Amino acid sequence: MPRPQLVVLSGAGISAESGIPTFRDADGLWEGHDIMEVASPQGWNANPELVLEFYNQRRKAALEASPNTGHKILASLEQYFEVTVITQNVDNLHESAGSTRVIHLHGELFKSRSTIDSSLVYPIDGWELKLGDLCKKGSQLRPHIVWFGEEVPMMEQATIICNSADILVVVGTSLIVYPAAGLLNFVNSQIPKYVINPNMPQIDPMPNLHLIHKGAGEGLTELKEILVKN
Ligand code: NAD
Repeated sequence: MPRPQLVVLSGAGISAESGIPTFRDADGLWEGHDIMEVASPQGWNANPELVLEFYNQRRKAALEASPNTGHKILASLEQYFEVTVITQNVDNLHESAGSTRVIHLHGELFKSRSTIDSSLVYPIDGWELKLGDLCKKGSQLRPHIVWFGEEVPMMEQATIICNSADILVVVGTSLIVYPAAGLLNFVNSQIPKYVINPNMPQIDPMPNLHLIHKGAGEGLTELKEILVKN
C-alpha cells in the first residue's frame, strides 16, 4: 500500500525557535529594513550593495542557527509518510534537520543567480556575495530569492503536490503572502488540515480543519502523537 502523502506548508515562524526572526511579528520591518528596500527588484536597482549586505547578514545568521524540534519532527515523519515540505523560508534548516523533499517557494539563501540569465544558479559557500561576483556570462550575481513582485517559479510544482495531499500541515505562516497562502485552496477540501501557530491567522471555515494554537516545536510534537497513533 502506498504511504499517505503528507504535505507541509511552512513559514518564517518555524525558524523563529532557531533564533531567526520573522518579519511580520516585528511591525512590518525585516531586521530594521522596509521590505521593499531589501526584497524587491526596485530595491535591488536602487542600491544593490545594501541588498547584498542584507542577505549576507541573513546568511551569516542562518549559518549560526541549528534546526529546532519542529524541523526535526517534520524530518522524522518521513518514517511514516511521503513528506513534502513546501517552505516560504529561504534558510536551509529543513534540510539540515534531515527533510529530503523540500521545495523553496521564495528561493534559497545559499544560492546566487545571474542577473541576465536566470537559469544560471550557483551555490554560495560561506556567507558573502559581493558586487563584482559574476556569472559565467559576465553579469553580476544576485541572491537566488523571489522578491516581492517577482514570479514564483516553484508555484506550479507546489500546486500539483498540494493537489495530491492526503494530509496538510500548515506551520509558522501568517498566510498573508500570496501566492503561497493560496496553496490551501489546492488541497482536496475533505483531507485533514492542521494549522499550527501561536498567533492563529484568519482562515475561512472548511471541513476537517484543526487549529493548534501553539509554537512550532510544541505543536508539531502534539501533531506527531495524533498522526502516528492513527
Ligand atoms: P510569515 O508570513 O510566514 O509569518 C510568520 C508567522 O509565524 C506568524 O503568523 C507568527 O504568528 C508565526 N510564528 C511566530 N512564532 C512562531 C512559533 N514559535 N511557532 C510557529 N509559528 C510562529 O512569515 P514572515 O515573517 O511574515 O515572512 C514572510 C516571508 O519573508 C517568508 O515567506 C520569507 O520569504 C521571508 N522570511 C524568511 C525567513 C527565513 O527563511 N527563516 C525569515 C523571515 C522572513
